[in-house]
Amino acid sequence: MNNSVDDTQHKFVSHSVVSEGELPFHCPPKDTQKWNMHPKVYIQFDKKGKGACPYCGSRYELG
Ligand SMILES: [Zn+2]
Repeated sequence: MNNSVDDTQHKFVSHSVVSEGELPFHCPPKDTQKWNMHPKVYIQFDKKGKGACPYCGSRYELG
C-alpha cells in the first residue's frame, strides 16, 4: 500500500486495472482488505473501459 497520495481530495479513491477475465467485476473486489466497506456492487465499464464505484469512488480500468 504505497499508492500515490497526490489526490488528497478523495481519500478513498484508488485506481486499479481489471482484466477481462475478472468480469463481471464487483467492488469491493475480492482479495481486498476493504471488502466490508460497502455493499457489493457490480461495476459498469464504459466504451473506453473505464468504470467507477458509486459507493467508494474507486476507479477501475479494463486492461
Ligand atoms: Zn467500491
